[in-house]
Amino acid sequence: MEKVESNVKNLLEKIPSVNPYGEKITVVAAVKLQTTDNINKAICAGITDIGDNHVQEFRDKYADIHGNPKRHFIGHLQTNKIKYLLGKVDLYHSLDRFSLAEELSKRSAAAGVVSGALIQVNIGDEQTKSGFAYEETESAYRRIKTLPALKIKGLMAMLPDSDNEELLLTLAKKMRTLYDKLRAEDGNFEHLSMGMSGDWKICIQAGSNMVRLGTSVFGKRY
Ligand SMILES: *Cc1c(COP(=O)(O)O)cnc(C)c1O
Repeated sequence: MEKVESNVKNLLEKIPSVNPYGEKITVVAAVKLQTTDNINKAICAGITDIGDNHVQEFRDKYADIHGNPKRHFIGHLQTNKIKYLLGKVDLYHSLDRFSLAEELSKRSAAAGVVSGALIQVNIGDEQTKSGFAYEETESAYRRIKTLPALKIKGLMAMLPDSDNEELLLTLAKKMRTLYDKLRAEDGNFEHLSMGMSGDWKICIQAGSNMVRLGTSVFGKRY
C-alpha cells in the first residue's frame, strides 16, 4: 500500500470515533502544499473532509479533487479573497477578526448563500497566531452572531507548540468550557475544531470533536 493510504488507514484506526462527550470526531486533512494526487489518495483511503490554507492553492486544485469531500478553509483569510471561496467552502474555521466576519456575511448575502463558520480563538495568547483573545471571544461571538448571512457553528483553536502536556490539556479544556457555555444557548454550535498532528490526543481528551491533520496524513511538509 502507498504511504498516504496506509497513513490514513492507521490514523482512522487510532483516532477514536467519538470523544469523551460521545460526540462524533471529524478528521479534516490539512492539504496545504500537497499534490492533488496525494489529496485524492487520502480521499480514496477514507478521508471525507479536507481543509485548505491558501486561496490560490484552493483555486488551482479545485477541479482536480475527486470524491466530493467536504471543504474547509482553515488558514488566515484576506477579505479580498473571499470571492474565490464563496459557495465552495462548507466551513470557514478562521474568523479571527470582526471585519472578516462582516465582509464574509456581506459577500455571502450578495451571493445568496449562508456561510458556516467558526470563531478562531488565540488560546495560547501568542503573537504569532491570529484569533480573538480568550477573554474577548464571547463578546466577539455576540457581535458576529448578529450578521445575517453567517451561521456560527462553533470555535477553532490552535494550541501552542509545546511539550508541556499539562499546559496543553489545561488550554484545551478552557476551550471546551467556552464552547459548552456558548453551545448551551446556541443550537447551531456543533464543532470544536482543535487538534493537529502533534496534539490531537490531548485535544480529543479535552473534548475536541474536529481535528485538522496534515503531517500525520501526508508526512512531513518541505
Ligand atoms: C497545517 C495546519 C494544520 C495541520 O498541521 P499538522 O501539524 O501538519 O498536522 C492544522 N491546522 C492549521 C490551521 C494548519 O495550518
